[in-house]
Amino acid sequence: MSRQSSDELAPDGSILNGYDYNLQVWVRKGVVLQCYHPVPPPEQTTYCCNAARYVDKRVRDVLDHEVRETDSAITARLSREYQRNYKRNLTP
Ligand SMILES: [Zn+2]
Repeated sequence: MSRQSSDELAPDGSILNGYDYNLQVWVRKGVVLQCYHPVPPPEQTTYCCNAARYVDKRVRDVLDHEVRETDSAITARLSREYQRNYKRNLTP
C-alpha cells in the first residue's frame, strides 16, 4: 500500500517537487522554498519555521529530510517478495 501523493521524488527518494513532511517545507527542484511568513523583528533570533531556516538549501542536504520509497524501489521490492514467495511455494 502506498500513500497517494502528487509529490515528485528524486532518485534517492528525497522530495524533488512537493512537500517534505519531516521538515514541513515545500520543495521545488530539490530546493527548499521560502515561507513568506512576516519578516521577524531583528531582536528575534529564532526562525519562524524550517522553511525560513533552510530556504534555498538542497533538501537532501538537510538533516532529517524525508525519504520515500521511489516507484522503481517499490517495483524491485515487490519483485523480490514475489520471487521469495514463489520459491517457498515450490517447496513441499
Ligand atoms: Zn516561516
